[in-house]
Amino acid sequence: EQVLVTGASGFIALHVLDVLLSEGYDVIGTVRSKDKADRIGKSFKELYPYAKLEFSIVSDISAPGAFDHVFQDYPNIQHVLHTASPFSFGLGKSMEESYLNPATQGTKGILEATLKFGKEVKHVVVTSSHAAIMNFDKIGDSSFIHTEDTWNPMPWEEAKNSELTAYCASKKYAEKLCWDFLESHKDQVHFSLTTVNPPYVLGPQVFDWGLERGSLNTSAELVNKALKTTPDFEGPFDQPQGLSVDVRDVALLHVLPLRNEKLAGKRLLPVSGTGVKEHDYEDGKFNFQKILDTVNANFPELNGKISKGNSKYSKSYLKTADFFNNDKTTQLTGIEFKKFETSIIDSIKQILDFEKKS
Ligand code: NDP
Repeated sequence: EQVLVTGASGFIALHVLDVLLSEGYDVIGTVRSKDKADRIGKSFKELYPYAKLEFSIVSDISAPGAFDHVFQDYPNIQHVLHTASPFSFGLGKSMEESYLNPATQGTKGILEATLKFGKEVKHVVVTSSHAAIMNFDKIGDSSFIHTEDTWNPMPWEEAKNSELTAYCASKKYAEKLCWDFLESHKDQVHFSLTTVNPPYVLGPQVFDWGLERGSLNTSAELVNKALKTTPDFEGPFDQPQGLSVDVRDVALLHVLPLRNEKLAGKRLLPVSGTGVKEHDYEDGKFNFQKILDTVNANFPELNGKISKGNSKYSKSYLKTADFFNNDKTTQLTGIEFKKFETSIIDSIKQILDFEKKS
């Protein structure tokens, strides 16, 4: 079965490719340049010599008709996983140009191209975000439980005042556009839609070369940043704070809808430490202090080299992270989400090993 993955060079997307190729799917990935295609192709060839992985260049997802040529070249695509969307701060352009336009136009473009040219497509999975769920004004309010049915209510006019809220709103508008598109084209649409709505995605890179960039993608860099601290680092220790999930679980959630029809029409909210058997709703709540605590507890060799933070903030996130319930997701998928500690330990081990080698 042929699967299209947009933004194949991304932190999350490379893990999605890893799951797909390990399970024998044929994959077409879109990337922005031939260099990226060559590097990713070569690395996966070493892991899966018989896998079928091809690339198509889409240099800007927000350009009109950006994905049309992909479907014209590959008319038998059966599944579309749309992960491409900007998630780096400080791009130096307007909030619309940096976030809203690429997120919404990219999503609109992939849906239109799928409808028009992807005649064989059965499933579309879109990487949305917990940002599309999050109610900022309910942070710390234990009477407001965020679930798979909750929507971020912040209008663009308010969201565009900061990069963080602008990014969050761009994800909300992009996801909303998907569900509205399905509704407004319901007589023509021949595919199902599932969205994956992860909070901060942590965990290791698929390939060590993912660490070569001085700084990693926005969420993985949080863990890397702990290693870059010195004992006299003065904080902040309570920022950022929120919910986390492991990248390997997020990748798996992108692939499950291709074989589980019950996931059609659903929003999936993965959070570290939750599951069908274990229901730990606190494990995934974190702040920078919790990352430091976890690194210090598990890597004694870093003692005296990195910050210990300030114990005052050790549990402060329990009051300020949002209250949530993702029982629908765990029951529908049966996944036991990896614990926060596992994501941190695996990321740090990978970085330390990489530094020893280079
Ligand atoms: P990355 O920055 O690693 O990946 C983003 C991907 O999108 C890259 O492949 C990037 O290409 C591509 N991309 C961005 N803008 C454009 C554009 N204008 N035209 C073409 N391609 C573009 O981040 P993640 O893997 O973390 O993010 C992947 C998805 O997951 C995004 O949709 C993000 O919003 C979502 N997400 C991420 C979370 C996290 O904590 N990481 C949490 C919740 C959702 P290139 O490599 O060339 O820059």
